[in-house]
Parts: sequence; C-alpha cells; structure tokens
Amino acid sequence: MENIRKPRGTMDIMAPEIYKWQFVERKLKSVAARFGFSEIRTPTFEDLSLFKRGVGEGTDVVQKEMYTLEDKEGKVFALRPEGTASVVRALIENGRCSDTYPIKLNYLINCFRYEKPQAGRSREFFQFGTEVFGSADAGADFTVISLADTALTELGIKGIKLHINSIGCPNCRPKYREALVSYLRSRESELCETCRTRMETNPLRVLDCKNESCRKVASEAPKTLDYLCEECSAHQDKLRAMLDASKIDYVVDPHIVRGLDYYTKTVFEFIAEGIGAQSTVCGGGRYDGLVKELGGPALPACGFGMGITRLLLAMDESGVEIPSPDSPRLYIASLGVAAQIKAGAMVDALRRSGIYAECDAVGRSLKAQMKYADKIGAAKVLILGDAELETGRAALRNMTGQIGENDQTEIEIDRVAEYI
Ligand code: ATP
Ligand code: MG
Repeated sequence: MENIRKPRGTMDIMAPEIYKWQFVERKLKSVAARFGFSEIRTPTFEDLSLFKRGVGEGTDVVQKEMYTLEDKEGKVFALRPEGTASVVRALIENGRCSDTYPIKLNYLINCFRYEKPQAGRSREFFQFGTEVFGSADAGADFTVISLADTALTELGIKGIKLHINSIGCPNCRPKYREALVSYLRSRESELCETCRTRMETNPLRVLDCKNESCRKVASEAPKTLDYLCEECSAHQDKLRAMLDASKIDYVVDPHIVRGLDYYTKTVFEFIAEGIGAQSTVCGGGRYDGLVKELGGPALPACGFGMGITRLLLAMDESGVEIPSPDSPRLYIASLGVAAQIKAGAMVDALRRSGIYAECDAVGRSLKAQMKYADKIGAAKVLILGDAELETGRAALRNMTGQIGENDQTEIEIDRVAEYI
C-alpha cells in the first residue's frame, strides 16, 4: 500500500525548524503587546459569503484561490484565505464596534489559498495580522506601519523596504477609475484573458495582476496619487510626515494597489530583497468601508498581514542566528532499577520546581546514557547506582569543560538542586 502524503502546498514543521517559528511568533506577540494590541481568535472556516463580501467577488482570492466545503446540512463554508473579514465579522457579531477607540487587535493564524506552491507561497500558510478600528486619522496607519517596521527590525531582517501609496476613497476613485478604464481599453490587446474581462468591472485589479504583459501595461497606467481628493491627499501627507519624524524609511510606489477589494487611502507593502519572486513580506492598508459593507457601523480601520514563511526566508537571507533551545541543567544517569526509580523521582521534583532535568527513559546502558547526556548538552551529570543509594552520596560531573577536564565532585544526593 502506498504511504499517505501531506496535501500539496502544506508543511510539516518540527525541530530544529520549529525553533525558528517559535522565535518569530514570540517576537511578533511581544512587539504587538508593546503597541497595546490584544489577541483575537476566530474560526478557521466561515460562511463562504463572508469572504465574497469582505474580500471581494472580483479578487483572485475569491475567484480562484478559495477552499470551499459543504457540511452535512448543505451549508457552504470556506477555509479562511485571510484574517480581516473574520475579525470584522466578530466585532459586529459581538457588539464590539463601540469599544473604546482605537480598538487594536492582532492574530496569528493559518490561512488557505489554492495557489501554485513555490518558495514563499503555499496553500496553507501562516500569517501574523494586526487591525486598528475606530480611527480615520493617519496616526492609526502610522501605528500599524511602525509596529510592522519594529517587528522586522527586531527579527534582524535587513534589506527590506517600505513601499507606500494611496488609492483614494469613494470620493476620488470614480474619476481615477474613468481614466484607468479608458487607458486600459487603449491597451486591451496586451492584457491577459482575466484582465480583459475584469477591466470594466474591476479595473484596479488589473494593476495587481501577476501576468508579465499586464504588469507592463500597469507600469504605464495613470497613477492614483494624481487623482486624490483633498482629504486623501492630506491624509497621505500626514502619514508621510509621521514616518519622516520616526525616521522610518519608505518609497512612494504608485504600483502598490493590493489584491483585496476593501482598501481605501493608504496601502503599503514591505518588500524584501533576495528572497525570490515572493518578496512581499507584509502587506496592508486602510479599509474604511469594510465594516459597513459587512453590516456594521461606518467604522474606519487599517491593518496588515505578514507571512511567516517569507519572514523566515528574509531572516535566513539576513544571516539571523536564532538562539537554540535550552539544554538540561542536569542529567541523572542510573545503573539498576532502584537507581532508575530514584532518578525518575528526583527529575520529577526538579522539573516541578522549574528546573530542566533529564534521566533515562529508554533503558540505556550507563555508557549509552553518558553519551546521550552529552548529545543533548546536559550541563551536569549525576551518576546513581546501588552504592550511591546506600551512602546517599554520588558523583556530580561537570560536562561543560574541555574534554579531559571534566571535573567531578561528590555531593549529597538529596541536595543536588544546590549544585546545578
Ligand atoms: P501576493 O501578492 O504575494 O500573492 P497577497 O497580496 O495575495 O500577496 P495578502 O493577502 O496581502 O497577500 O497577504 C499578506 C501576506 O501574507 C503577504 O504579504 C504574504 O507575506 C503572505 N501570503 C499571502 N499569500 C501567501 C501564500 N500563498 N503563501 C505564503 N504566504 C502568503
Ligand atoms: Mg496572492
């Protein structure tokens, strides 16, 4: 019988790789806490219609990348392709839209998109996200951008650049849209099939298409920045002044439009050098219309999503060394059943008192136990046999010195905690 394999585009993560993941996750959570964000957890699957409305029917995510499933009652759900729509739904459903502003939330979730797996792109991926609700002020955009920048800096990632743009609001977008559509019509023959059909219904998406020929058309397209209304312009200026004051480096990049439908005004991406084609480590922006679109009050919001795999690739590229996990402070080697039982009880007591200790749980010979203690990096080894149990004294060996220098002291067994 053939062995069952994991689904294409998914990952098994274990030691030593898992230490890197845990390091990144701890860092992201600690930075978010310092910025006053609290965690939110929502279901892994939601009503399909949430994502259709929240992400947008015209997006690649909804049109091509969704994992949908039907339950036994015929209800149709989707595995979440991103986090924002669920967070908004949860705020509305739980009556939390009028909590004290700004409402600052973060999450670390698995997301699912049916995409072509490659470096930095998988079908189940992990995303750290933040959202701020209840502020239309550029100070909120600044908060999430500086959070992302702080996290990237503290993770040791170098060669990363913040790209920002503004895609306007329902006030100024119609005028831009008109200009864009008439430009796209003039270049229609160069567009891919998808873009040809969506250029009238959803022209902004064409600017986000990955197709090479569409990208060329996009690069010469009218720029949203040239069409901003006064309010959007002032918002963008204030954000830039705030970034300048904090010395957060950025480039204004008219090609950033973001793949999801709900963005307004600020959009941004942190782009890493040297990690291949999937170089957007973090993407986000403002989405002032989304809460209302999903049935809540008119609540302005902004946030970002950060892909963990791409963070790890960027950290590797930057040569970041991740501290290895702690080694045991003591290994208790034993010879004979009575000594093994005593070792087990001692290790149990040490662990309960907060000390990382190990003993034999495999039935190894004394020699093999010493080899194992060395392999797991135990700082000290206590050796127990029948004689030691009788006298209550045993040799404590220091394992951290040079070979041949392993000093050894005789101690009272029951006072071992004082020596380690
Ligand atoms: P891309 O242009 O790379 O497809 P996107 O615009 O679809 O990105 P978002 O929806 O903004 O991505 O998601 C935020 C972040 O999540 C991305 O910047 C990226 O780091 C990560 N991400 C998105 N899709 C994947 C995926 N399939 N595999 C791994 N990480 C992903
Ligand atoms: Mg995508």
